[in-house]
Amino acid sequence: MRIAFVGLGNMGAPMARNLLKAGHELHLFDLNTTVLAELAELGGQIALSPRDAAAQGDLVITMLPAAAHVRSVYLNEDGVLAGIRAGTPAVDCSTIDPQTARDISAAAAKQGIDLGDAPVSGGTGGAQAGTLTFMVGATPALFATLKPVLEQMGRNIVHCGEVGTGQIAKICNNLLLGISMIGVAEAMALGDALGIDTGVLAGIINSSTGRCWSSDTYNPWPGIVETAPASRGYSGGFGAELMLKDLGLATEAAKQARQPVVLGAVAQQLYQAMSLRGDGGLDFSAIVKAYQR
Ligand code: NAD
Repeated sequence: MRIAFVGLGNMGAPMARNLLKAGHELHLFDLNTTVLAELAELGGQIALSPRDAAAQGDLVITMLPAAAHVRSVYLNEDGVLAGIRAGTPAVDCSTIDPQTARDISAAAAKQGIDLGDAPVSGGTGGAQAGTLTFMVGATPALFATLKPVLEQMGRNIVHCGEVGTGQIAKICNNLLLGISMIGVAEAMALGDALGIDTGVLAGIINSSTGRCWSSDTYNPWPGIVETAPASRGYSGGFGAELMLKDLGLATEAAKQARQPVVLGAVAQQLYQAMSLRGDGGLDFSAIVKAYQR
């Protein structure tokens, strides 16, 4: 299949590599020419703009940092919608607010383009290994078209509902993740301060009712889970700045819906303070430092 792929950063580049490996013809665009050159060596074709890439694709995929980038890549003069042929399916995999996802999809629909949202979880490791989870907001027909291609980059491809619902699933999950990590950090630090061995405490939590992914797979206390960022100085993993971005999306969407997210707002402030301390580049589990003596 001829696929236009725009946005080849930490996530987009390995995703595009997996599509090249699967035998697709890729038309690539990013502002970063170094990554374009790397992917051209693997057989990708470099486009001059999002419009140029889209004009050559039978499917358009985008993977951009935030809503402003998605708007400009689709709606600008040299954007995707200026080049795409009517009837070509498109999907945006960036994590953005649900309303922008709906707005861009509505603009595309005016040109006869079915555009869905499919944000991912699984991080850069999942992007490389092709094991991402895709949360897809799309018409049933678009989902059926996208699924076989997304399966070449991911393991779980879930149809969440109409356009925008992929983004809703993603921000609700990350709202909970941001909160649960702080809960685990608080409990681990309290245990340590009161004098219990933290390994024993983690073992109890993980076989009791406090257990969650943040405690048993990604524990923020160093040395508890060998493979967790906490055991390698909080490097790699899911940066606190990205968590902060996702909590911002969740609290903003909540505001629009007049829905309270009390713990989410507190969590957002704690990660904000972490960022202010200069730790925004660390994995988000380094939030535990706020509690350590
Ligand atoms: P990134 O910043 O590494 O990559 C974004 C890419 O988009 C860059 O290469 C940049 O040059 C390109 N870009 C920006 N503006 C552009 C434009 N106008 N035209 C063309 N290219 C442009 O970001 P990432 O880590 O790949 O994340 C992408 C999205 O996926 C974000 O929305 C992020 O929240 C989400 N996400 C990231 C992770 C993660 O672990 N990194 C996990 C899940 C979801």
